[in-house]
Amino acid sequence: MADYESTQLSERDPRLAKKTPQGCRTKECPRCFGNGSFVLRPDSYGPGKHFEQMCPSCWSHGYVLESQTCAHEWKAGGNVGNCLNRWVCVRCNERRVVDSSG
Ligand SMILES: [Zn+2]
Ligand SMILES: [Zn+2]
Repeated sequence: MADYESTQLSERDPRLAKKTPQGCRTKECPRCFGNGSFVLRPDSYGPGKHFEQMCPSCWSHGYVLESQTCAHEWKAGGNVGNCLNRWVCVRCNERRVVDSSG
């Protein structure tokens, strides 16, 4: 499990292609700046093919809702039954329940 601290970026990673906004997600993600993911190990699958981690703030979309101001930093808030896991943002306290089975 990757340490989220190691994925803190202050600017867009030029090694990744920027995604295009989709639907109501039109604001560039404050965490990954439109990349949708972070490079954890550069070129681990060959030149230009990186081992990446999905951006937890925009759930790999690269863009967020206009109303989202927080660069979400999720921490596991406990298992809520079967394959459901609760995540809590340490910054704004927003909660999400994610089905990890799918
Ligand atoms: Zn993001
Ligand atoms: Zn948040």
